[in-house]
Amino acid sequence: MRVYLETFGCQMNELDSELVRGQLVSLGYQMVDHDADAQVVLYNTCSVRELAEQKALSRVGMIGVRKREGERLILGVLGCMAERDGVDMLRRHPQVDILCGPAELDKLPQLIDNVRRAQESERVRGVALAGNSSRRTATLSAAEDGLEMLDLSRAFDPGAREQPWSAYVRITRGCNKFCTYCVVPYTRGAEVHRPPDHIVDECKRLVDAGAVEITLLGQTVNHYRYTHGTSVTVGGREAAQVGPGLKAFRDGAAPTARTTTFADLLRRIHEEVPGLLRLRFVTSYPRDFGVDVLAVMRDSPRICRYLHAPAQSGSDTVLARMNRGYTVAEYEEFVARTFEALPDATLAGDIIVGFPGETDADFEATCSLVRRLPFKNNFIFKYSPRPGTVAIDRFPDDVPDEVKRWRNNTLLALQGETSARVHAAWVGRQVPVLFDAVRAREGAARAGQGGAAGGAVPMSVGGRSLEAPAPTWQAVGRTPGDLIVAVPAESEAAARAPLGSIRRVQVDRAQALLLLGSQIGPVLP
Ligand code: SAM
Ligand code: SF4
Repeated sequence: MRVYLETFGCQMNELDSELVRGQLVSLGYQMVDHDADAQVVLYNTCSVRELAEQKALSRVGMIGVRKREGERLILGVLGCMAERDGVDMLRRHPQVDILCGPAELDKLPQLIDNVRRAQESERVRGVALAGNSSRRTATLSAAEDGLEMLDLSRAFDPGAREQPWSAYVRITRGCNKFCTYCVVPYTRGAEVHRPPDHIVDECKRLVDAGAVEITLLGQTVNHYRYTHGTSVTVGGREAAQVGPGLKAFRDGAAPTARTTTFADLLRRIHEEVPGLLRLRFVTSYPRDFGVDVLAVMRDSPRICRYLHAPAQSGSDTVLARMNRGYTVAEYEEFVARTFEALPDATLAGDIIVGFPGETDADFEATCSLVRRLPFKNNFIFKYSPRPGTVAIDRFPDDVPDEVKRWRNNTLLALQGETSARVHAAWVGRQVPVLFDAVRAREGAARAGQGGAAGGAVPMSVGGRSLEAPAPTWQAVGRTPGDLIVAVPAESEAAARAPLGSIRRVQVDRAQALLLLGSQIGPVLP
C-alpha cells in the first residue's frame, strides 16, 4: 500500500515521523511524496498553538472532499492533536479513520491493518490514545516499552532522513513541567527517560550509518536522569523509566552512583562515540541547568556550545503566572554562569507575547531582557489559549489580538538588533561550518559583475532578446553555535560539493541572522 505522511510542528514530531516511516517501510508499505498518489494519508499533527491545528484541519477537510467524491482512502491523524481532541475529532470529522496519539505510535501499523481489512465489510475506525489516564499509567506504559521498541527498531538507513548527515535521538519523552499555557504534558504524557545504553547504542549506529551531527531531544532535556537497577524488562534488560519529578533537582538532592545524569550522558556519548563530530541537545530548561553540564561541555570539544533555553518572558509576574519556576534574575544568573564557563557559547530561546494579564510594563521588561542578553535569536509567539491547559481556565485571554501582533512585531525588530550585534561579533573569525543547504537567488545579478559577463543567460521573449541574470549560488551551513553561514559558489555543483561535511570558513561580513563567508576550506577535522 502507498502511504503519504506529512509532519507539522517540532523536532519531536519530525523524529516520530521518521520512526513511523521506518516501521511502515519495514512492513512493506511504500512511502510516496504526494497525497494524490497515496492510499493511506497520515498527518502527524501539532497542538502547541491553534494555528498549527488549523493547518492540519484544512488538510483533513480536503481529504474529506475527496472521500465524499468516492475516493477510497484511509485517513489517519497522528500526534498531539489526535491525543488532545480524542474521539471528538472522529465525531466532527467523519472522514478520519485512524487516531493515534504520540505515546501510541508503535500501534499504528496494527491500526492501519485493522481499518484496511474492515473497510471491505463495514466501516471501522482505529483509535489508540493514551487518554486522560496517560499520566497515571506512565509507569506501566514505560514498563510495557512499546514506544521504546519503536525507538529501538529505528531504521539506520541514511536515506530515511532528509539530511543523512544529521539525526535526532530522543532521550526523554513527555514533560513534567506544566507551564500553564502548554498542552505538551497532556498530549505527550509524563516524563519518561530512556536507558543510557540504548541512547549511546543508537548514536553509535547512526554514526556508523553516516551521521556527523546528532541532536538529543527532550522537552526539558537537562532533566534527564536515569537510576540504574530500578526498571528492568522481563528479560532483565534496562527499560525506560518515569522521571523523578522536579523535586529531584531542588533541595540539593545529589545523584547517587547508580544515577546517570544529563552531564554523565553527554560525557558518555562524547567518549564512546568518537566518530560523532557534533553533539547538540534541545530544549534546555533554564532552571536546574547544572554547572556539571557546563563543565562537560567545556571539556568536550565535539559538544556544541549552543543552548536553546527559552526565557518565555522578561517579567517576574508573567513568569509566575506561566508557572515557569524561575525569576528573571535567576534566568540572568544562568546566562552569566553559561558565558563564564563557555565564553564562545551562543544562546537562543522562545518568548510568548500577550500572555493573559501582560501589561505594557511587563512587555517592556521583556524588551529590556532582549536588549540586555546576547540572544542570537528568539522564536516569538503570540499567546494562543489551548483547551485543557491551566491558563485557559484560570486566566482570561485579555490582551487584544492587535496588541499581541504589535508586541510580536516590536519584539521581532528588537531581537533583530540584538541578533545583529551577536552576529557582528563573529566577523573576522574562522568558524567550522557543517554545510547543509544550497541556496539560489533567482535572477540576482552577481556581486561585482554586471550584464552578460556576470553569467547572464540569453533569453528571447516575443522575438526580443533579453538578458536574464543567472542565479547566484550559495553554500549554506551552521556553526557549532547554530549561526547560519553562507558562502558564495560559482555554480550549483560547487554549492553542493561541501554538503554534509564540516569545513573552515573565514567570516567576512554579518547580517542580523546570517554570517557571510568566503573560501571554503578543506574537510575538517
Ligand atoms: N519544552 C520546551 C520549553 O519549555 O522550552 C518547548 C516546547 S513548546 C512545544 C515550544 C514553544 O512553544 C514554547 O517554548 C513556547 O514558547 C511556545 N508555546 C507553547 N505553548 C504556547 C501557547 N499556548 N501559545 C503560544 N506559544 C506557546
Ligand atoms: Fe510545555 Fe513547559 Fe513542558 Fe516546555 S517545559 S513542554 S513549555 S510544559
